[in-house]
Amino acid sequence: MPLIVQKFGGTSVADSEKILGAARKAIRAQQQGNQVVMVVSAMGKNTDMLIGLANEISERPPAREMDMLLSTGEQVSVALMAMAIHALGSQAVSLTGAQIGIKTDDTHTKARIKSISTERMQQLLDEGNIVIAAGFQGITDHFDITTLGRGGSDTTAVALAAVLGADACEIYTDVDGVYSTDPRVLPEARCVDQISYDEMLELASLGAGVMHNRSIEFAKKYQVPIHVRSSLSDAPGSMIIVEPESVERPVCGAAVTEKEALVSVLDVPDRPGVSLEIFSRVANRNVTVDMIVQNVGEDGKADISFTVPRDEIGITLEAVQEAIQQLDAGRITHDDNVSKVSVVGLGMAKQAGVAETMFAALGRENVNIQMITTSEIKISVLVERDSALPALRAVHKAFDLETAPPAAKATGSSSLVHAEADAADVVARLQGVDMEELVLDDISLDESQGRVTISGVPDIPGVAAKVFHEIAEANIFVDMIVQNRDSHEEHASLSFTVPREKVDDSVVVAGRLAEQFSCTGVSSCPNIAKLSVSGVGLRSHTSVAIRMFRALADIGVNVAMINTSEVRVNVIVDGDKGERALESLKAVFADVLR
Ligand code: ASP
Ligand code: MG
Repeated sequence: MPLIVQKFGGTSVADSEKILGAARKAIRAQQQGNQVVMVVSAMGKNTDMLIGLANEISERPPAREMDMLLSTGEQVSVALMAMAIHALGSQAVSLTGAQIGIKTDDTHTKARIKSISTERMQQLLDEGNIVIAAGFQGITDHFDITTLGRGGSDTTAVALAAVLGADACEIYTDVDGVYSTDPRVLPEARCVDQISYDEMLELASLGAGVMHNRSIEFAKKYQVPIHVRSSLSDAPGSMIIVEPESVERPVCGAAVTEKEALVSVLDVPDRPGVSLEIFSRVANRNVTVDMIVQNVGEDGKADISFTVPRDEIGITLEAVQEAIQQLDAGRITHDDNVSKVSVVGLGMAKQAGVAETMFAALGRENVNIQMITTSEIKISVLVERDSALPALRAVHKAFDLETAPPAAKATGSSSLVHAEADAADVVARLQGVDMEELVLDDISLDESQGRVTISGVPDIPGVAAKVFHEIAEANIFVDMIVQNRDSHEEHASLSFTVPREKVDDSVVVAGRLAEQFSCTGVSSCPNIAKLSVSGVGLRSHTSVAIRMFRALADIGVNVAMINTSEVRVNVIVDGDKGERALESLKAVFADVLR
């Protein structure tokens, strides 16, 4: 018999009427011949209310007790949901995370799932029950209650769908599906028919709101097709699966992360191990670093800049302060008045001119770009907070995100079949691994590129647009782009990588533009090596970048450029160190490479 998991978020179970409505959906699915597992969140704003209470009592409530408290929210909703189903004449049994056997590690308030037993759920289902599982919670080996982090019920739902081999995982929420950008921010946002796991992972971690990003990691790892839909309307919703909505469109979504803060560490020695010194201290405080930009060092000194969520600036500065004391060099500046605007799309990996389109749109709006980082499927820029909204609107329009792509496929049933076939393989391959453990699928070396750097770029709107326009005109495909704001002066330095045989052409183009914009100079290095580590969980396991830095520092290799995404970390090192670096990364990650 087909099995479906239906998850109802807080707003979908906010009052008794909504609980009865959700119960009817589950009963209908059961009557249509499915076994049904429901996953429910705490009612409405119940979790916030509980956190508020805890904070009235203590500024720093013990994490274990926090979990004890927060897990009650979901316990209330599962019981009421089971009662609702009984009242409507069907059979249901509610279960807490502990009763199901959702084993987690002991990181209270953000525990990771290790394993889930299916026996009890399967037996209850076979007896004709709707199983109602409490979202967001689990239990440690020592029977302490844990929670998975805010929004964690999505992760429970996808994890249950994975272990039960569910045919569908439906996420019921208060919006119609996944949007090209947050519709509360931009009313012209479009609800997409379909989006790929990788794209959704990027958008989720950029704060696109719809789903917990660990739930997407799960879905990708175990190939669970997700259907996001409204509990309030009959809108068709959005599928999250392997394939993107359109292969022609370079970009599928845009996002703004308003509350960012920029930290710059200036004048640190340009030698192996310095990034490690800084970032390992930040990671130890559990702060996720984004948009890392490192100046290609001149006169033996380097500047390293990165962004963190604004409310984590305090602990970040503490960590960096420690690092510069340790290094006995460098100074720190920071800026809280910045926002990050990003575009995401699988299609951009294969198309030229995508960055140009974005930068040109920003230039037309007179938005000054302070920093740029790119990955295979994402371009992010840092702008002044006041320009964030106009910037988002401009790029959303530039990539036609408000209209459906021309050859939009219907919600792909063929992809589901495909995904299902793979799912069994994947589950077999991951047998015996903790479910949320980091898994790498590739470590590779690319020796086909060179780097070009323009320094002393005036910090005014439109320069990046012009540079990448001319480069695209010259038919040169740009891979990594990194721009930082040089905090010494009102200047930036802009580096990018191109195919090695195009370095000379690029230098000619860059030289012409450098003259036109009175930049200080152009330098290049035809001999660089790009090392990439890819897999699932790279950013939520902050240790990956740190382990890479450590491995490279240990063999004396300096990192010249770096970019990170949800699924990949790329670093650029000296060309003649590529092979060695590759060997060392393979050794360091041997335990998680599958
Ligand atoms: N109730 C939890 C929260 O509000 C979990 C969830 O809703 O997914 O974060
Ligand atoms: Mg939620």
